Amino acid sequence: DASNPKLQQIDPSLLTITKTTTPKELIPHDKLIFGRHFSDHMQVLPGLSLEWTSTHGWLAPNITPYQNLSLDPATCVLHYAFEAFEGMKAYKDKSGNVRLFRPDKNMARLNKSVARIALPTFDGPSFIELIKQFCQLDSRFIPSARGYSLYLRPNMIGTQRTLGVGPPGSALLYLIASPVGPYYPTGFKAISLEATTYAVRAWPGGVGASKLGANYAPCIVPQMQAAARGFQQNLWLFEEVVDGRKEEYVTEVGTMNLFACIRDKKTGQPELVTAPLDGTILEGVVRDSILSLARERLVPEGWKVNERRFHMREVCEAAEEGRLMEVFGSGTAAVVSPVRSIGYNGGLISCGLPEDKEAGPVTQRMKDWIEGIQYGEEEGHPWSWKI
Ligand code: PMP
Repeated sequence: DASNPKLQQIDPSLLTITKTTTPKELIPHDKLIFGRHFSDHMQVLPGLSLEWTSTHGWLAPNITPYQNLSLDPATCVLHYAFEAFEGMKAYKDKSGNVRLFRPDKNMARLNKSVARIALPTFDGPSFIELIKQFCQLDSRFIPSARGYSLYLRPNMIGTQRTLGVGPPGSALLYLIASPVGPYYPTGFKAISLEATTYAVRAWPGGVGASKLGANYAPCIVPQMQAAARGFQQNLWLFEEVVDGRKEEYVTEVGTMNLFACIRDKKTGQPELVTAPLDGTILEGVVRDSILSLARERLVPEGWKVNERRFHMREVCEAAEEGRLMEVFGSGTAAVVSPVRSIGYNGGLISCGLPEDKEAGPVTQRMKDWIEGIQYGEEEGHPWSWKI
């Protein structure tokens, strides 16, 4: 049983560290390309089998020099996609402290993801402890400028050598890190999305809410097609029947959740709306943060904040009537990403952004608020974990 508490336990006190003897040269800040450069080390936690080693669970953690993995060609991850991952960041604040942003959320999500594909769960707080030690060891890879960070990629794979389709008897949980620059080095750049109407990313009862590698590879072809038509990302819809009418429910973007600011038709009240956690979208950490901040800081200004299904018909109508105020994506990479327009059924919906502006006021404020917390500028906020 993968969720047996005895099998979940990780013991950080057993950590052994093998330092690299060939430290890498740091890449100059302005030359960083997302996900291309890696820090000196990696963290490896070989976990042994559920069926065979109910007495072992997770073995002693190691930090080793960054290196290749060696896998038998029959390893189950290479055949049946037993893989789940996370994306999070370590930040360096003005005083040089290293900070994580809501790492408990990433641990909870990874545990949900791995459980869905019969990989073993693990004890989140202990893994965070190991991440902290890792970040300290490789802290020179965290640039200290605002907007820069060390992208952390925890990854779990099934490592059993078998072509049999069944629960992996062994697994590897590891972490690598990649220094990254600001998503928008010269300030916000609004993007255009293409609403994809011929393919779906996820469906009720599926695994869209899990961060599985298997959810990403099938999204690349629609993404390439959107790019070929000049759109930066595609927007995933899900067709459903509401009151006997076909509607296209707005779900999320490639690697972002989606928010819209819509003014109410009758009352004129502004509403911040995003799709609900119905199992078809990823439970974004930034999405959750935006909702909390909006409830705390926008509601007193007269806003409604809702997690509810909204449809392309509503977005089109609001745009036509001048009630679509802003649209933006949210995710760890960019925090928020302003959307200028959405290509839909051959037409182009304009998302309320004046031509000479790259972001609306809510988008801008959310970025400032969240980065303020991530870089420890908002003192003592519980989402920023100083290590
Ligand atoms: N949706 C998808 C499909 C994603 O890959 C991501 C990035 N993890 C997000 C949304 C945003 O999630 P988060 O705010 O946790 O980065």
